[in-house]
Amino acid sequence: MEAQVQETTPVVVIGAGPVGLAAAAHLRAYGLPHIVLESGEQAGAAVRAWGHVRTFTPWRWIVDDEAEKLLSPTGWGRPDGDVPPTGAEIADRYLAPLAAALGTVRTRCRAVAVTRDGLDKTRTIGREARAFVVRVEHADGSVEDLAARAVIDASGTWGRRNPLGASGLPAVGEAEAAAAGTVVAALPDVLGADRARFAGKRTLVVGMGHSAAGTLRDLARLAREVPGTQAIWAIRSHTARRLYGGAGADQLADRGRLGSDLQHLVEAGEVELVAGFRTTRLELQERDGERTVTVTGTVGSARESIAGVHTVVAATGFRPDLEMLSELRLDLDPGLESPRLLAPLIDPQFHSCGTVPPHGHAELAHPGEPGFYVVGAKSYGRAPTFLIATGNEQARSVVAAIAGDAAAADEVQLVLPETGVCSTSGADAGSSTVAADPAACCGASGPATVQGAGSTKGPAAGPGPGLAQGFATGQGGGLLAGLTVLGDTGTSCASDGGGCG
Ligand SMILES: Cc1cc2nc3c(=O)[nH]c(=O)nc-3n(C[C@H](O)[C@H](O)[C@H](O)COP(=O)(O)OP(=O)(O)OC[C@H]3O[C@@H](n4cnc5c(N)ncnc54)[C@H](O)[C@@H]3O)c2cc1C
Repeated sequence: MEAQVQETTPVVVIGAGPVGLAAAAHLRAYGLPHIVLESGEQAGAAVRAWGHVRTFTPWRWIVDDEAEKLLSPTGWGRPDGDVPPTGAEIADRYLAPLAAALGTVRTRCRAVAVTRDGLDKTRTIGREARAFVVRVEHADGSVEDLAARAVIDASGTWGRRNPLGASGLPAVGEAEAAAAGTVVAALPDVLGADRARFAGKRTLVVGMGHSAAGTLRDLARLAREVPGTQAIWAIRSHTARRLYGGAGADQLADRGRLGSDLQHLVEAGEVELVAGFRTTRLELQERDGERTVTVTGTVGSARESIAGVHTVVAATGFRPDLEMLSELRLDLDPGLESPRLLAPLIDPQFHSCGTVPPHGHAELAHPGEPGFYVVGAKSYGRAPTFLIATGNEQARSVVAAIAGDAAAADEVQLVLPETGVCSTSGADAGSSTVAADPAACCGASGPATVQGAGSTKGPAAGPGPGLAQGFATGQGGGLLAGLTVLGDTGTSCASDGGGCG
């Protein structure tokens, strides 16, 4: 007998990052039973993995309002000030207490598939009445199917870096080079835990996001301390101006500074820039017991090789895990892999200011699968412009829709800082230019509240004249530093006998 949705059937949230936990706080406020599944050892496992990185966003754009309401009676207060937290601070000072206050987070539980109970993807009749089934793999290897009245996938994209290959496929030899330890994901802890790997060595950083910039800045600092340390930076674009960006005009001050710092380092010759480079091949070399890799690509019609590289840092962005959703009727943009209606609002090729018009349940819905939503960083698919503030608003709207509170679901609000980073780039990422006047692209200055009715906005809706814009995210892309494991804040599936249900 297939499970029908009951009052007690929980909403399952996949992922205990900032957005998954914000969704849980809103579910709790509506009195909806829910479970949060987290594959890591504790809540905020992905954020902890980049714990050594300082964000660009002050606390007020990180903490969700409903989460704050839940935490306040426990004596918790939102950290003050304009100093943005590190990933570790977000995890320790916000996500860990939030997970504890919720009491619904089950750690070491990986969602591996979502489907409808008793129906495969081909079956239409009666689909909406059926509960979802979320298949969960526990840390001990056991597998369990959980019934869910609705599913909110907030599992992020941190676990999946884009390949180095310029065509979206791994470069020839990339897998071998990665297996040999010469390719690492974005955001290694250059000045901390990973210092020995980079000190006195030659490093190639590939990618043009803020994570590439941060790594290059750290490498330049290391080079001043340890002779022989070299930093090379390869980008597909013909210019790095987009990343050099807004500097003082960027309301997220640290992000503006990162771009201008990098520009100075390139101009001073401390970072060697190879622009217009499209990676095609990696070849390992071994001489006198030292392993290096030669990275070959094209620059225009010429072939160019960067030889003698000890480590390649792939700061190439992220992509979502859609395999776990392959039994659902998703309505995705074929390019960005975000929900179809959201794609034109966030497409980085056309929204080079990182414009983020207000959006909520309507843009995030999959019409063939009512009750299923992807929120948070994963909702942006391959677009790198996601910010937590946007995700908190997504979570609020989506939960209101699940709760049947249509008015609240449609009343989408966003409060965004202005950015001065206004560039336009055509379909070819190599042709970016910087608008002379930020307002020409970014609309009104200063923070502003933007309101919109999610259910009435069409796919091509833009921010409109005078409305505030979003901003390029602090995330440049890429993955991974080692997963830091601190204390457990959730209910461990493994320690309570392996049960997630
Ligand atoms: C270095 C860096 C700096 C950034 N700086 C900023 C900034 O300054 N401001 C800003 O607003 N945003 C910033 N971002 C972007 C974005 O806001 C963050 O990545 C944010 O953590 C995204 O939140 P999330 O909840 O969507 O996903 P995540 O934080 O990635 O959380 C997803 C959670 O789901 C878990 N998970 C994954 N797969 C599964 C599964 N199958 N089953 C169960 N659990 C799973 C993960 O372990 C993780 O805990 C930054 C990102 C990076 C990488």
